Amino acid sequence: MQELIIIGSGPSGHTAAIYAARANLKPLMFEGMMAGGIAAGGQLTTTTEIENFPGFPEGVSGPELMERMRAQSLKHGARIETQTVERVDLSRRPWRVVTEEGASFEAKALIIATGATARRMNISGEDKFWQRGISACAVCDGALPIFRNKVVVVVGGGDSAVEEASHLTKFAAKVILMHRRDELRASKAMQKRAFDDPKIEIMWHTVPVEALGEKFLSGLKVRDLKNDTVSELACNGLFYAIGHQPNTAFLSGQLELDEMGYIKTVPGTSQTTVPGVFACGDVQDKKYRQAITSAGSGCMAALEAEKFLHEH
Ligand code: FAD
Ligand code: NDP
Repeated sequence: MQELIIIGSGPSGHTAAIYAARANLKPLMFEGMMAGGIAAGGQLTTTTEIENFPGFPEGVSGPELMERMRAQSLKHGARIETQTVERVDLSRRPWRVVTEEGASFEAKALIIATGATARRMNISGEDKFWQRGISACAVCDGALPIFRNKVVVVVGGGDSAVEEASHLTKFAAKVILMHRRDELRASKAMQKRAFDDPKIEIMWHTVPVEALGEKFLSGLKVRDLKNDTVSELACNGLFYAIGHQPNTAFLSGQLELDEMGYIKTVPGTSQTTVPGVFACGDVQDKKYRQAITSAGSGCMAALEAEKFLHEH
């Protein structure tokens, strides 16, 4: 029987592991084996330079940052299994955790830190130019030199798309907000922000279909969905803002999720609708979605799990 199991291995999972291990809870982490198509270590393993994580004034590569977090978890006594959790049984305590390999574990407390996956469109050429002009995070990548004073495209019509477009106007010469319909889904206030910004141009009923370029992205083939015509558009950036998918399928409804599949937590805490089960990071946060906010909520989850174990 484990005191604490942590599922997931991004910044939130590792911060929870470091705190729990230092509290002598001997946490067991399932870091995943290409869970959701992403390597152990989570979303940051798919990116290059991180410039906004405190403590690294020169920047740090995403994989290196996650390798350092993993080493810190191990140093303090966390145990790490490279397995993906397939299902959990939260109907009674102790909680049961079953991996894809069929191994079964019990725990008195559980922290879910399985993150979210940014949706991609999988257009032709996307893999070649991923992180070479194509990204799913303007806040993370927008300031890179390849986008400075260039034309960049943001795909999507929701609040995130407008927020990302707005952020990119600080660096790009022009931002094209490309939306598949004739009306934005974003709130009225956000729509106004997009319409009023002279650097943002909206391209209605259009989607990208192919990424073009040599080493870096230099253009797109785009389809006008009304006329069903394809044309070329010169641009150096393509940012997807078409939503995220929280990694909660393995919970199969045993915890309350919101309408988009994110785990519901009591505001200001990591407490889920099941006492003794805590959630942290992007799996319960559709707003901030940053490494540092995930790490902060991982700390909260570990402290709350420690208190729960002490009281029960
Ligand atoms: P994640 O990083 O999503 O990791 C969770 C991981 O847990 C999964 O990836 C997987 O390995 C594992 N897992 C999932 N399901 C299971 C399961 N069933 N069993 C076992 N393991 C499982 N943020 C910044 O602050 N600065 C940046 O510069 C930055 N750049 C980014 C660049 C890109 C391309 C992307 C996609 C994101 C970027 N972000 C950045 C956002 C940041 O990566 C996330 O906010 C952060 O990683 C979320 O951490 P997390 O702990 O919630 O989970
Ligand atoms: P949303 O689901 O709200 O919007 C996704 C957008 O992407 C939609 O406009 C959708 O088009 C478009 N889209 C989806 N799939 C495709 C595709 N395959 N091809 C082309 N376009 C596609 O996601 P967001 O991330 O914008 O927002 C998520 C939640 O977070 C929302 O509740 C939002 O309000 C909130 N949020 C709030 C912020 C704020 O208040 N400042 C900031 C960011 C997010 P269509 O409209 O046609 O469906």
